[in-house]
Amino acid sequence: MAELSGATLIARSLKQQGVETMFGVVGFPVFGIAFAAQSEGIQYIGMRNEQAASYAAAAVGYLTGRPGACLAVSGPGMIHAMAGLSNAWANCWPMILIGGASDSYQEGMGAFQEAPQVETARLYTKWTARPDAARRIPQYIEQAVRTSIYGRPGASYLDCPDDLISARVDESEVSFPARCPDPPRPQAAPDAVEQAIEVIRNAERPLVIVGKGAAYAHAEDEVRQFIESTQLPFLPSPMGKGVVPDEHPLSVAPGRALALQEADVVVLLGARLNWIMHFGLPPRFDREVKTIQVDIAPEEIGRNVAAEVGLVGDLKAVVGQLNDALAKKPYTLAPNAPWRSTLATKVEENKRAVRAMMDDESVPMGYYRVLREIQDQAPVGTLIQAEGAQTMDISRSVLMHDQPRLRLDAGSFGTMGVGLGQAIAAAIVHPDKKIICVEGDSAFGFSGMEVETACRYRLPIVFVIINNNGIGGGIDAMPEDPFASPPSGYVVDAGYQKMIEGFGGKGYLVRTPGELSSALKQALDDEMPSIVNVLIDPHARGKPQKFAWLTQ
Ligand code: ADP
Ligand code: MG
Repeated sequence: MAELSGATLIARSLKQQGVETMFGVVGFPVFGIAFAAQSEGIQYIGMRNEQAASYAAAAVGYLTGRPGACLAVSGPGMIHAMAGLSNAWANCWPMILIGGASDSYQEGMGAFQEAPQVETARLYTKWTARPDAARRIPQYIEQAVRTSIYGRPGASYLDCPDDLISARVDESEVSFPARCPDPPRPQAAPDAVEQAIEVIRNAERPLVIVGKGAAYAHAEDEVRQFIESTQLPFLPSPMGKGVVPDEHPLSVAPGRALALQEADVVVLLGARLNWIMHFGLPPRFDREVKTIQVDIAPEEIGRNVAAEVGLVGDLKAVVGQLNDALAKKPYTLAPNAPWRSTLATKVEENKRAVRAMMDDESVPMGYYRVLREIQDQAPVGTLIQAEGAQTMDISRSVLMHDQPRLRLDAGSFGTMGVGLGQAIAAAIVHPDKKIICVEGDSAFGFSGMEVETACRYRLPIVFVIINNNGIGGGIDAMPEDPFASPPSGYVVDAGYQKMIEGFGGKGYLVRTPGELSSALKQALDDEMPSIVNVLIDPHARGKPQKFAWLTQ
């Protein structure tokens, strides 16, 4: 009988459990796992930092429903990858981190890169383990994968000491569990479904909020049917965009603040009442608001606001149940409900204000004009990655999606620096789609080196850097004494586009709408990645908001 190494067992089990992509940085003791992954048919993407690799693995989880894997070396490498593990935890995305570790028989001796990795991972994972024997690796990997996707999705961590990776096991001692099936889609209690419909029926100012849980659950057909049959106004969360098309006549996204504030019944479809939704509390919500919450995680029901009705189950299944009940006893919000006209007036007013900024041709440009160019040129089905405080925020109101799972951003954790890793993940998952990675200059800086990765694998990502010389509002000019420069300032008119040229990509520096238009067109036609570095007005801002984003 042949012998198998621990590395091969890890790679073969991952492949058998439907893990198709691994992002990592090789080194001691994980070299063998990367090579084994390649020979077992897993696509291995070598990255430049474990942070970006771990962000990429989680994005694959969100986009495909099967965890992406991240491979990290012991100690510092594993700690870098905690960035992605925590991001996956905060977003409820499946991923699996494979962390190399120092030899188990050197535990406590001050081994090379020894660290309390199992303890470190535990807080941010649904499942963490260090296999007790190499022959049982397949059972561990099956558990890791299954746990990451069943119930509320999340991260798994497998700690792999050098002696486990290099162990050799006789094939006869090993058994491989069958591929764990896609997650079950539990239904909600039937009487809760009836109760939810009663609450909706009696609402005067109902509102549906579509979150990224709906996108993750592939519930777009059911959610669209629900919205259309009831004619309820809806708004998406940032990554819930496109589950129902953004330009659907029932979208009240441009009137978000008013819709949230005045709704008397809010139907939450895979969206949490966390900071993104202002906790569901005053002053952003009505004190008396009734919520109908659909979520796969029972413990989420009633967070911050006691739910009027909690529907625990899979979004696709539960919204299907709502649709079935509505088919038997139809309900439609009256076309002349005063709530509709209240919202419509606000939506029109806000659209006009944004439109004016989108059409502003002055130089230097502001965010809106730059983003409009992207909106105008992005082909149907383009996946957008957006990050950077204002870049991301404003992009939500300018970049429109008519399909789900085509937007990635800093997410529930507000993680700056996820952009390049996530864009690379998107390009791997969707080789047929255009990927535009819209970055603030600060956000870009966190993982800018990953443009080498994009060039190496010839992933034709278009990186658009909206460059305002710093964090938030940047600086106009560097002061005489550089140490007197504000903490938010970066090099003025930095030539980020030159970075990519060193790796075979194409760089553009643009200042005017005309230059932007032609650079973007060329970049979108290119087979190699590009950076379009757009120097905007360092004082450019978003539309003034009634409430600052982070206020309650
Ligand atoms: P958003 O940021 O878009 O508001 P959140 O990440 O806050 O979304 O919330 C997503 C919610 O979706 C989480 O509470 C998660 O438990 C839930 N969820 C994930 N998968 C499913 C599913 N298949 N069915 C129902 N809910 C789900
Ligand atoms: Mg900036």
